[in-house]
Amino acid sequence: MCEPTHGSPSITTNTQGSLPSTMSHHQKFFSGDESLQIDFTIEVETLCPSCFSKSSMKFKRFVSIPVISVFVLMGFVFYITVYVFTEDWLGLQSSAGSLNALIFSFLALLCLYSLFVCVVTDPGHVPSNYVPDFEDTDVSDQEPKKTGVHLRNCDKCHTYKPPRAHHCRVCRRCVLRMDHHCLWINNCVGYWNYKSFVILILYATIGSLYSTVMMLSCVLQKDRDFSGQVPLKIFYIICGVMMVALSLTLGTLLGWHIYLITRNMTTIEYYEGIRAAWVARKSGQSYRHPFNLGVYKNITLILGPDMMKWLCPTAVSHLKDGISFATSRDSL
Ligand SMILES: [Zn+2]
Ligand SMILES: [Zn+2]
Repeated sequence: MCEPTHGSPSITTNTQGSLPSTMSHHQKFFSGDESLQIDFTIEVETLCPSCFSKSSMKFKRFVSIPVISVFVLMGFVFYITVYVFTEDWLGLQSSAGSLNALIFSFLALLCLYSLFVCVVTDPGHVPSNYVPDFEDTDVSDQEPKKTGVHLRNCDKCHTYKPPRAHHCRVCRRCVLRMDHHCLWINNCVGYWNYKSFVILILYATIGSLYSTVMMLSCVLQKDRDFSGQVPLKIFYIICGVMMVALSLTLGTLLGWHIYLITRNMTTIEYYEGIRAAWVARKSGQSYRHPFNLGVYKNITLILGPDMMKWLCPTAVSHLKDGISFATSRDSL
């Protein structure tokens, strides 16, 4: 979605050389003569090269070695699970074998779909016309590390930062409700793609556990004999170590994000919270994460109010603007 670039006259007639806080990236292209600025700004709304290429930009995120590695890994795990472990243990011609292959293929498809959604979804950027509510006294409460500071500025974007937004050095912009920048999806994990990211980890964890069980069942079958098949034995050992390591890594990551979801916390806020709690303790006070609204409410804020849509990575109609967030203080 293109953000509207038609700002107020105070923006388009700026001749001081400094960028106003509400200026968008589109407007930074233009400076100098005031009338020209206005004309170009109008044209920019329809022909902005940045917006024109935005849809192709999101697909360019796939052109990355880590993202391609993830696809290769997924393909490899799928191949060994279906065509090696399942075939070897049950045989793909048997009903049990084909049923297992079908279930795993469905799981792999869900994984692939979630990964695709994660990569192409914009995590959320600060609107060009964003101005914080100066009268909102809760702003300071939403920033544990800057208690008493009512406004947050991004030095690099020259804009105000909404609560929970952070600047990503890789994406070179501020991201709404930023969790972290993920190398493996070549994208930031933020307000709009956090759910799909968690669902991706969930499906990937289930998939790798499924594959590990299939491998173990294959190896531990009674009449399995590797004598005279040393290369095959080494292949199974390598696959086994890889699948166990993958399951443990993904399982730990999933557990971590379940913990964060139940507390309505981002990874960045978790580390900020440790420091805030330490500072509060030193002054004899206690610290509570301001966005923690209770476990069930926290879960619905991320996954949605409808339980039937919890596992759908694109069911995000419950999300609002990513700029304002309810705090525990609101419900008092
Ligand atoms: Zn920024
Ligand atoms: Zn980023």
